[in-house]
Amino acid sequence: MHENTAENSVILCRSCDLAIRKRALPTGVRALCPRCNTALYDTPYCSVNGMLALCITALVFYFPANFFPVLEIHFLGSIRTTTVFQGAFAVFDQGYWVVGIAVLAAAVVGPGLLILSILIQLLIVKWGLDSPLGRHSLKQLLKFQGLLSQLTMLEIYVISFLVSSFQLSDFSDIYFGMGTFCFTMLFLVTLFLQREYDIEHMWGLLMQERH
Ligand SMILES: [Zn+2]
Repeated sequence: MHENTAENSVILCRSCDLAIRKRALPTGVRALCPRCNTALYDTPYCSVNGMLALCITALVFYFPANFFPVLEIHFLGSIRTTTVFQGAFAVFDQGYWVVGIAVLAAAVVGPGLLILSILIQLLIVKWGLDSPLGRHSLKQLLKFQGLLSQLTMLEIYVISFLVSSFQLSDFSDIYFGMGTFCFTMLFLVTLFLQREYDIEHMWGLLMQERH
């Protein structure tokens, strides 16, 4: 029971179903199946400091991404700018409140909570693993992590944004604002963060210190 669960779990090879005991790998190394050479898992374990840097970068882009204009439409002499926030409220106003809530949740609230949650987890791992309060909070945050990463759908938002701008560009001039740049950067940084973040590894860190 005192073993580190993340690093002693048994996994199955995706191609040949061979059971393999998972072990900790040095950074930059990939585990291959001994029977069929399929790549099993590599070390996504970015250093805690690396993830911390990604988190802070994401937070820096978060606010301008949501509150600066992402789109500037020039149409018959009139200029309109839109932020992600206004976009969500515009759909809301037209009566599509379910869509409005979905946009707010997936593009604004979800990513914000996700980044904050990972940031707090990293701070606990770095400085708070010895205190019972730190361990308790980390456990609760890890339990909610799955839900949060499902809620975050920045990529869907980015795709629909691109599709609608191309459609609009047929009859009006489209300019991208500061918000577009920040939103794209937020999207990329969150993508890297989610790739580096490994929930099993975080659980492992929580279990590790107990004995
Ligand atoms: Zn295999």
